[in-house]
Amino acid sequence: MSLALAVTAGVTLLAAHWVLPQLWLRRSRARLAAACRRRRAIAITFDDGPGRQLTPMVGASLQRARIRATFFLLAANVRGNEDIVHELMRAGHELGSHGCAHVHHMWSWPWVGWLDTRAGWRGLQAVTGRAPRGCPFRPPYGKLNLLSWLDCWWRRTPVVGWTHDGFDTRTGADKSPAELAAELRASGGGVVLLHDFDREVGDAGAGVLAKLEAVLALQQEGYRFVSVSELLSPAPRPGRPRPQLRAVYRTRRTSATFQVQAKPADSIASRGTGR
Ligand SMILES: [Zn+2]
Repeated sequence: MSLALAVTAGVTLLAAHWVLPQLWLRRSRARLAAACRRRRAIAITFDDGPGRQLTPMVGASLQRARIRATFFLLAANVRGNEDIVHELMRAGHELGSHGCAHVHHMWSWPWVGWLDTRAGWRGLQAVTGRAPRGCPFRPPYGKLNLLSWLDCWWRRTPVVGWTHDGFDTRTGADKSPAELAAELRASGGGVVLLHDFDREVGDAGAGVLAKLEAVLALQQEGYRFVSVSELLSPAPRPGRPRPQLRAVYRTRRTSATFQVQAKPADSIASRGTGR
């Protein structure tokens, strides 16, 4: 093999490793935004939890509003907070995986992100008893590499991004609760990203709750609040029955149940080529 050919092959592989998954994620995000707009829907999602203090407070706000959200849990934070995970399940919230140790899939060795994803599933399954197949996954920082992308595709994992960042972890760049609500109004709904891990400094937890309340208030304006799986499921067509629920997972430790839509392959789940 000539040097030029080797260099070309290397550059092509690197481009595929970094660029292709991001292009696919961008397209997936556009489809999420379109689905929200079409249904005038809002999906509230929390990453990086559970937090010993903040997650129960978030749960209380959601309970008062009678709204269910989706929590993308870090397996590293699940350990020691199993009771909080069970409480989320009892309240009917949807649980997804955010990996184990919050690895950046683009800026680490390819297999590191892949292994972290696997560890995340194992950690979540140990607490929920739920098989990972069909369970939504949100990669840390919203990034995948080629290996982790192919793994999600192979396992038919719905990879879920977001359309509206609540900016509740940014320093130096903030977004007020009113601005977040205004952005959602302007786009006709969306998938909101907030974080429920415990902060060590400041009153960021209060900021998260204020933003959550501002989003929940949009219920008064006719927005429909949905879980991620509801958003990914096909919209019912007039005159056609809703798809039947096929899988119900029951935990061994609690009586809580999860329900998963019947045909994820028909959904807009970010699964690329449809396997
Ligand atoms: Zn995260």
